Order: sequence, then structure tokens, then C-alpha cells
Amino acid sequence: MSLEHILLYCGLGLLGLVLGSFYNVVIYRYPAGLSIIRPRSYCPRCRRTLRSADLIPIFSYLFLRGRCRYCREKIPFRYATVELAGAAILIALFWRFGFSAGFFKYMPILSLLLIISIIDLDIQKIPNLFVALILGWALLWQLFSPALPWLDALLGLLVGGGATFLVALISRGGMGGGDIKLLAALGFLAGWRDLLLLLFVAVLLGAIVGIAVIIIQKKNGKTALPFGPFIAAAYLIALFWGEQIWSFYFTTILP
Ligand SMILES: [Zn+2]
Repeated sequence: MSLEHILLYCGLGLLGLVLGSFYNVVIYRYPAGLSIIRPRSYCPRCRRTLRSADLIPIFSYLFLRGRCRYCREKIPFRYATVELAGAAILIALFWRFGFSAGFFKYMPILSLLLIISIIDLDIQKIPNLFVALILGWALLWQLFSPALPWLDALLGLLVGGGATFLVALISRGGMGGGDIKLLAALGFLAGWRDLLLLLFVAVLLGAIVGIAVIIIQKKNGKTALPFGPFIAAAYLIALFWGEQIWSFYFTTILP
């Protein structure tokens, strides 16, 4: 790797950290019905406005040792995690696509999926706005730079919405309305073929983590896990390794 490349990755990482701290603001404020822009960030416990020096992603967290400067309230480690995930998104997209169209197409999608996942973990709900943004963005790309035949995209929408609706009916509450809308939007974006892969991976991940949670917490069934994060993780896997997984399936497993 050349020095130029290393600098580029560092720059993208820093930009990603800044974006990640913006995602934190959205994750915290949007479900609470607060303005994203105003007021400036404050400590949720002592309500004091934070200084600029306290708002530097990761570094402020490390410097303050994870506590509010004023009241020593613990800053959830999750804030740092989301910032790092923001950086990981940009770095991974550049690694996969360079600065081709794919980078710009998938950057907002992965960012929205990150926001959706954390909100779903918090309040077990996927806000319609973020799903609508994914669908709108996918529609724009399909109109002006289609990566799929329209039939594939529309079938993806139908399978994502329809199949999941059936699963939700059968499992009675295992999957919510937000999951169905999200899968429909991602189906339109990815097409029906990759959507099937996505569904398979999401259910598999959900089952593994679900069983692990039951074992660790010693709870008997019915631990309601939000499904959004699994959909997001499965989409990520389908986006980055979908082609390899399909060709492995057709050449190794199917015959
Ligand atoms: Zn405080």
C-alpha cells in the first residue's frame, strides 16, 4: 500500500468518525422528537452544553475517560462504537468500490442501516422516515443508473414485503411492521435474488444470536430481539460477499 493510500484511508476514517458522531445525534434525538440541529449537544443528566473540545469523536471520549466533564455521568460506550462504525463504513466502502459510483450509492444506505439498527435496539421500532429515505435513494439510482432490471427490483420489493408479511403472520409477532417495510425497501435495492440471500443470512444470524442470548441469560424463549440489526448485518454481507456466496452455492452446494 502506498503512502497516498494510507493517508486516504486515514482521512476517510476521520471523516467517518465525524459522520458517526452525527449519527449518534440522530439516534438520540429523532426518536425523542427533538430537533437534530438545535440546541448544541448537552449532557443528558446535568444538561450542561458540551464544549467543542468534548465533541471530538473518540478522542474526547478517551480524554474524558468516558465520563461527563461536569457531573461525571458515564458516557455510554455505544457512542464511541457508533463513531467507529461510521469510520468503518467509509473505509470498507472504499476498500470494496474505490471512489466509483458504488461508494456514493451505498454510503447513505449503510449509514441509514446503522442508525436504524441502533434505534431498533433502543426502542424496538424502525422509524418510517429512514426506511423511506432508503427506498427513495434506491429509486433515484434505479431511475438514473439502474444496476438491475426493473423486474428484478420490483420482485425484490414484492418478495421483501410479501414473504416477510407471511412470516410475520405465521410467527405472530416475531417480526414487526418496520422489519417488513425495511426488507421491501432493501429488496427493491438489491433485487429478489440477493434479497433471498439477505433473508437467509438475517434469519440465520437472528437464530444464532437468539439462542446465545437464551443460553447466556437463561431465559426461556420469547426474548424479543429486534430484527433490524440482523437485517442490516445481512445486507452488509450480501453487498460485500453476495457474488462469492452465490457462486459457492451454485458450484459447490447445488450440484
Ligand atoms: Zn453531565
